[in-house]
Amino acid sequence: MSKKIINFDREFVWHPYASSEDKNPLYNVVKAKGCKIYLDSGKALIDGMSSWWCVIHGYNNPKINDAMIKQIKKFSHVMFGGFTHEPAVTLAKKLIEITPKKLKKVFFSDSGSVSIEVAMKFAIQYWYAKGSPSKKKFLTVRNGYHGDTFSAMSVSDPENGMHKIFNESLIKQFYVSKPESSSNPVTKSYSLKEMESTLIKNRKQIAAIILEPILQGAGGMRIYKSEYLKKIKKLCKKYDVLLILDEIATGFGRTGKLFAFEHAKVTPDILCLGKALTGGYIGLAATIVSKDIAKTISNNEPKLFMHGPTFMANPLACAASLASINYLSQYDWKKRVKNIENTIKKYFEKIKLNSEVKDIRIIGALGIIEMKSIVNVGSFQTKAVENGIWIRPFKNLIYIMPPYTIKKSELNFLLNSLEKTINLEYSN
Ligand SMILES: *Cc1c(COP(=O)(O)O)cnc(C)c1O
Repeated sequence: MSKKIINFDREFVWHPYASSEDKNPLYNVVKAKGCKIYLDSGKALIDGMSSWWCVIHGYNNPKINDAMIKQIKKFSHVMFGGFTHEPAVTLAKKLIEITPKKLKKVFFSDSGSVSIEVAMKFAIQYWYAKGSPSKKKFLTVRNGYHGDTFSAMSVSDPENGMHKIFNESLIKQFYVSKPESSSNPVTKSYSLKEMESTLIKNRKQIAAIILEPILQGAGGMRIYKSEYLKKIKKLCKKYDVLLILDEIATGFGRTGKLFAFEHAKVTPDILCLGKALTGGYIGLAATIVSKDIAKTISNNEPKLFMHGPTFMANPLACAASLASINYLSQYDWKKRVKNIENTIKKYFEKIKLNSEVKDIRIIGALGIIEMKSIVNVGSFQTKAVENGIWIRPFKNLIYIMPPYTIKKSELNFLLNSLEKTINLEYSN
């Protein structure tokens, strides 16, 4: 059975960020519970990835399962045009409660990338409604990542290998130097000078600055100082541009705060949420805007906001999300994230001694090991799986972001096996 599934997969299926003739190892998952992922071979892997930021409470959580089962017995979907339902309304209310006061209206969509598209359309339409239709470009920093759809690509790193070949097909935005990574003790101010001069020169064209707060994710896993974000917020005010914060990766506790912008105590005009929004159960994203933006768009021609995903505010997804957010408030996630952070620190001190390691970075329940060269994913992953753990490096980055609910023994096993795997892979 196993061989058959893998063979059919190789024949018919495309995987993320991969060639359709990918030769890298592929594992057939038959069950997942807590922080364990079970393969058809019977092997259990300790999850170090939270399935790309999102499965913060582990797999097969009884509370989220129950909420979805209850909802599926009522109805799993209805159109959101002209209809509403309790899961969407209760979730929207909850999101407004847990985000800054200024944010007042929630627009649901089905993926993070789409929530970014929506945020960018909101920003453009806001300025159009205010009589400044020339403000329709975006300013961002290099090494960012905001998704794989076209406008999201246009504000992601323009030189990043990921989207480079599409550059000619993308809208040109404004890019300035990336913020200094916090593991570098010297915080230079050149990137802000460059940002300010770009704003001075192009403020009539710039609708918004878009950023990942505190942590740049898929564009390089870089952590930057909260001071930088604070200053950017000031620049936004000074030069009359909006601030869009992309919390799709960082939202719901990963960096030790519920939202990463809390490290800098700034408030965005537009906030994007996704990934852990449903505890990693099912696709859902949200774009949340200030009252001013909602009112300005809705009271000025054309008044309507022309976006409406078919599965907007899907009731099953909203039910999962509500259960996930409620569950988060039922255990001391902050303490758990802190414990994970401390344990990662302890192990990384040893891992750092490997001469192939260039840098280590840790924030909340996320540990990043930057290697001196590109990691051979196939070879690394084979060894990691043999050692009983699930980790997926990209480029020269090996990182772990376990579910917050990981047991102490599981976390020690994960880090022990990670150390073993790195030493095996980089033994010469
Ligand atoms: C993953 C991610 C996105 C895109 O979300 P999808 O759900 O994959 O479309 C956007 N921004 C950030 C910061 C992300 O990590």
